[in-house]
Amino acid sequence: MSQTVTVSSTSPRPTFPPLLSAESLYDKCMTLASNLWWSWNPDVISLFRDLDPIRWRQLDHNPIALLKEFTPERLEMRAAELVLYSRINHAYRRLKEYLGDVPHWARTNAGVLGSKPVAYFSLEFGVHESVPIYSGGLGVLSGDHIKSASGLGVPLVAVGLFYHQGYFKQHLDINGWQQEEYLDIKAENLPLEPARGPDGKPVTIEICTRTGCLFVKVRLMRVGRVNLLLMDSDVDGNRPEDRDLTSRLYGGDNRTRIRQELVAGVGGVRALRALGIRPGVYHLNEGHSAFATLEAIRERMKDNGLSFDEALRDVAEHTVFTTHTPVPAGHDRFDAHLIEEHLGPLRDELGISPQQLMGLGRVEPQNEHETFCMTVLGLKLSRRANAVSNLHGRVTRRMWAHLWPWRVEDEIPIGHITNGVHIPSWLAYQMRQLYDRYFPADWDRRMGEPEVWQEIHHVDPGELWETHHALKNQLLAFVRRRVSRQCRRRGESDEAVEAARNMLDPNILTIGFARRFATYKRADLIMYQLDRLAAMINDPERPIQLIFAGKAHPADEPGKRLIQKIANLHRDPRFAGRVAFIEDYDINVCRHMVQGVDVWLNNPRRPLEASGTSGQKAVLNGALNLSILDGWWAEAYDGSNGFAIGEGASHARDDVTDARDAEALYETLQKQVIPLYYDRDIDGLPRQWIRRMMNSISTLAWRFSADRMVADYVRHAYLPAAGGISCDMNIR
Ligand SMILES: *Cc1c(COP(=O)(O)O)cnc(C)c1O
Repeated sequence: MSQTVTVSSTSPRPTFPPLLSAESLYDKCMTLASNLWWSWNPDVISLFRDLDPIRWRQLDHNPIALLKEFTPERLEMRAAELVLYSRINHAYRRLKEYLGDVPHWARTNAGVLGSKPVAYFSLEFGVHESVPIYSGGLGVLSGDHIKSASGLGVPLVAVGLFYHQGYFKQHLDINGWQQEEYLDIKAENLPLEPARGPDGKPVTIEICTRTGCLFVKVRLMRVGRVNLLLMDSDVDGNRPEDRDLTSRLYGGDNRTRIRQELVAGVGGVRALRALGIRPGVYHLNEGHSAFATLEAIRERMKDNGLSFDEALRDVAEHTVFTTHTPVPAGHDRFDAHLIEEHLGPLRDELGISPQQLMGLGRVEPQNEHETFCMTVLGLKLSRRANAVSNLHGRVTRRMWAHLWPWRVEDEIPIGHITNGVHIPSWLAYQMRQLYDRYFPADWDRRMGEPEVWQEIHHVDPGELWETHHALKNQLLAFVRRRVSRQCRRRGESDEAVEAARNMLDPNILTIGFARRFATYKRADLIMYQLDRLAAMINDPERPIQLIFAGKAHPADEPGKRLIQKIANLHRDPRFAGRVAFIEDYDINVCRHMVQGVDVWLNNPRRPLEASGTSGQKAVLNGALNLSILDGWWAEAYDGSNGFAIGEGASHARDDVTDARDAEALYETLQKQVIPLYYDRDIDGLPRQWIRRMMNSISTLAWRFSADRMVADYVRHAYLPAAGGISCDMNIR
């Protein structure tokens, strides 16, 4: 590309010959759009955005949908107007290089996995907002896990479900009550292709239950170097109920649930086999997919002539199980007749009795009153199990101690690997540019290393603050746009819409709170004493403002009441213009929020937050965490890298805990957070605050990155499992 192209501003039609045939430019763009690698590469994102910024936003940042609105000729013209040729070619070459390369890290650290990849099972994957097959933290974690595995070059194939309607879209009605809307996802606009077997034919597998058989097709989605296989039961020939089986994430009753888990687990293992993939490790991300182990046992019995017990031991040796929640409702349980209906035919092949099968999902195998628990199955059928933070490890060992009644708590074989986030996905472009200038040249390949991040202390404080402010302004513009649109849809008055267009002030300390509205997360803790909050919000010298977002599960009435309480605050003049609720929390909303707030608030009832990851995203962008010492924050907080609420104690009674934590929250805000934020030097800079931002970035960004997390899984779980090395799951 030595030719330079100039376009006269008066003539929109370029007059020079195209450098490439129209088709090939279009094809290159489609190739870029067909691998979600683009979603964490700012150059490629801006390339798509520049094609048509307004449609880009309206189409949920979906490049395939966008490109379909172009003919190859129009794309060619648009590219010429914007001089996009070299950017498209450069991005295309980078993708090809990326896919052709095995990174240094994997060559030295994950060699043995090469021919025996990790099969990573999860019921949801949150890779990008344009692919809505996730609901929240678990899905985003799975997405971040496979993106980092791709970056590090870990041989890994991911397995999940394709949902035709995904998770619901959230709107609030005029009373602030959550409405759920399910939209059909246009699969043809997603980067999906049929997964093809060694013979080149699309793979379909069959699963039989006592009440009939169903077919499942396997779709392939490319996420960098990782292939994500998505099971889809919407296949001709299936009964209508089976075709609908995979329409909604966490929809339907327990029977739908067990059937989805059968498709993901048993179907997933069959799909791998049909594709000629022989995994060396099964990683069950949460118990949902634990039926995979039973199918893997069947394979070994059939292929290697092993007995059930031998095959079970062998499968357990190669299985890694991660548990994600100490909340009892988060653990799937099925009664005996559902198990027999769905696993009966498989059980016949395993040659075990119904009682034996039920026993695998029970703490006490003989206890007829116990239902079948997927977490118990996962724990029994894996030699390596882990929780997702240090504290969660302790809680989980206590929670499941009765599975190992002869062991003391410290010897319960459950370790922990703390969650982390995929840095390129969550880091704001402007912050990345700042880091690019101050950090070592190859820092983007060394994001999991502590040394890299020490350089933040050499950044000019004024420059860091300015960058943060630019991002904060972006967030506020986003909030105003969304909230005014919400008001209009809800049919509020013109004044209300206009007020929303002018709400929030960039000079005010801005606190963000966004997560699922599960009651234990206590979204309303800051409203414990409404007068006190009102006084803080309206303080004439040092006010605060709040931005909320989050969905409640459709069946969670108390969660919906919390949303209503917050959404209706704006009717109270004391809060008008200073409290915002953004509807339809998703990856896009999360990205805006963690990149623009000053403070990220997290106040779950300890110790129910297993890890939490949104605060880790906030760290990367310079926001300070204000959090209960729960989940990841219990091991992250060092006194100078954010703020703690309380001292990590909980009372046996929730109402007492809530009252104490609310008091601690107000105290921390009034004595630490607010004074530090408004303490300005002669240049208007909050020097001590900025120092804390730097401490937060240097001590936390690498430690709570998904690169560090995946490296930990490789070293402490995958390699031992693949090599069959007998280590005592000492991943604590
Ligand atoms: C990161 C993320 C979460 C997880 O946040 P928590 O801190 O675990 O509550 C949930 N939903 C979305 C959309 C996210 O991006």
